Amino acid sequence: MSLIPLCIGATKIHWLSGGDFRLDGGTMFGPVPKSLWQKKVQAAADNTILLCNDPLLIRTPDMNILVDTGLGNKLTPKQHAIFKTTSPWSLLSQLASLGLGRQDIDVVILTHGDFDHAGGVVMECEQGQEEVTFPAATHLIREAEWQDVTSPCCRAQESYWPINFRQLIKSGRIQFVQGTHQVCPEVKVCLTGGHTLGHQLVEIASQGETAVHLGDLFPTHAHVNPLWVMAYDNFPLEVIACKERYFTEYRKRDAWFTFYHDPLVKACKLGAKGILTDRWPQGADQAADPSFI
Ligand SMILES: [Zn+2]
Repeated sequence: MSLIPLCIGATKIHWLSGGDFRLDGGTMFGPVPKSLWQKKVQAAADNTILLCNDPLLIRTPDMNILVDTGLGNKLTPKQHAIFKTTSPWSLLSQLASLGLGRQDIDVVILTHGDFDHAGGVVMECEQGQEEVTFPAATHLIREAEWQDVTSPCCRAQESYWPINFRQLIKSGRIQFVQGTHQVCPEVKVCLTGGHTLGHQLVEIASQGETAVHLGDLFPTHAHVNPLWVMAYDNFPLEVIACKERYFTEYRKRDAWFTFYHDPLVKACKLGAKGILTDRWPQGADQAADPSFI
């Protein structure tokens, strides 16, 4: 967990540990040759790269909002082996260290329904029963995404797992959103598509400062080139168009771009021509990272 939050005006953003895993580097960089992406990310002998699944906890003056929920605690031993998990889902202990319990999350925003983002929506409790992890929260998901989750094509069904939604459906704590939706004065969501049919972004704005979470459109800082899309993207041309559009739009606002899958960099800013400038947290390795100036 990033101990020092990134402050956007009066709103604070923490990153929680939703579990790390290793995915094939070639799949994470889609059309990009390994000779290029390996200059930015180190691959193991089996060609996998380390990725985190770190939900954002947005603390406004009035609300606690979670963006996505990590891998959860329901993976089977076989799934742990397939995804090469390297650290556990520890949302609840980290929330406790901030003085928050399961009942204190007001809203869960799902950028989309893939298992690595929705895995913590429903948790397995000590007695083995499944419960909605944050029972007081309204869970926001786009209507288009929900249609895909409930009636997936053969490709999408690989990553939409019913086990992540069954208890949520029973609880009735889902709100389907369309268009631009203002969650609270500081936070809004809007449809992007691209990665999945109903993928959405999250904008955080307070006192003239802005951060934007582009979810899996911009999974790590190494994906800053708009053409560097993932093989996981269902609509890659849409991803490229979204990145060009939102990079330009939010760069003009000097916004922070926040990450979910990046084990090193939690947020960055973009300068002209898409050059990475500031990063969060700041560290000595910024100078050594060729992505930054
Ligand atoms: Zn993802």
